[in-house]
Amino acid sequence: NRRIVLASRPHGAPTEANFRLESQHLPQLAEGQVLLRTVWLSLDPYMRGRMSDAPSYVPPIAIDAVMGAGTIARVEKSRHADFMEGEWVVSQNGWQDFALSDGRDLQRLPEAARQHPSWGLSLLGMTGFTAYMGLLDIGQPQAGETVVVAAATGAVGSVVGQIARLKGCHVIGIAGGAEKCRFAEQMLGFDRCLDHRDPSLAEQLRSYCPDGIDVYFENVGGKVFDVVLPLMNPRGRIPLCGLIADYNASAPSTLPDRLPQLQGAILRKRLRVQGFIITQDYPHRFDEFVRQMGQWVTEKRIVLREDIYDGLDNAPEIFAGMLEGRNFGKVVVRVAPD
Ligand code: NDP
Repeated sequence: NRRIVLASRPHGAPTEANFRLESQHLPQLAEGQVLLRTVWLSLDPYMRGRMSDAPSYVPPIAIDAVMGAGTIARVEKSRHADFMEGEWVVSQNGWQDFALSDGRDLQRLPEAARQHPSWGLSLLGMTGFTAYMGLLDIGQPQAGETVVVAAATGAVGSVVGQIARLKGCHVIGIAGGAEKCRFAEQMLGFDRCLDHRDPSLAEQLRSYCPDGIDVYFENVGGKVFDVVLPLMNPRGRIPLCGLIADYNASAPSTLPDRLPQLQGAILRKRLRVQGFIITQDYPHRFDEFVRQMGQWVTEKRIVLREDIYDGLDNAPEIFAGMLEGRNFGKVVVRVAPD
């Protein structure tokens, strides 16, 4: 069994030196367990947080422990009454070829993902669920309203924008570079997508949101938030999903303190800013999500671009690249043929 463990905690952006590839023998399969073979490995920004020992909503990954991750796996051997050999499952194998499970952390692959198992990590799994709950439960978009979403072509952002369009909203994405923006407009159906590296981002956003912004789905933070905040409408909603611009920061920000402006805007405009952690706040709504998203996916009303890589040993480099925006779509690694 090859596995990638956390060798040291990163300062700033993670490097290859923070990871170590190891081989080990698997323990014997016990009664009530299954042996899982990882086929698809999900790489997600939250893993950067788990590499650090700063306080968070889950404990950090221990040094020398295998990197955690959602995976799509096949049951290789089963001594568990509920799982048959050959079956697909959504599991938490982490960055390794094989894992043992007692079944409690396993879910069956949703029906709508049968033709495309990796979607169990994205459209019909964690990132799609994040987009769905954050936008609909916290953002509460109404037809005709303006919704802005950051990291617009990513795993979460691309789905947020498409759901907002299905709800009849005017949707503006913000993404890194002309190619991603073109994709958001032409393939995802966004009304407009703006490049966050363009120095005129603030003016462009103002001109494409003539009626202000009702919902801002925050994935990024940093300078993107600075240009969005002044355009928020009274009673606007901000689902605070992620702050990826800061994940690699190794020291507190040296920017001027903007807290008074932020609090002033929240007060005067009566904004609702709500953070959420999908795995902790919404497990009770997962079945509803899978039903609705399964229908949209089957009807081809929501699409997903995946950024597919091969080989477990490439995971550290792919992961570091994602944090810098080198990915284009949901990042998945094919660990074994599917
Ligand atoms: P993505 O597929 O969107 O990949 C990350 C993207 O972030 C990059 O491609 C890049 O896109 C963008 N990015 C990185 N750095 C910056 C920066 N400095 N400024 C602007 N954009 C940047 O990842 P996900 O869709 O998986 O995750 C999106 C966000 O959602 C993350 O913040 C993540 O932590 C959060 N999340 C939160 C969850 C929760 O429960 N709260 C659950 C799942 C995800 P570009 O090139 O367009 O800039």
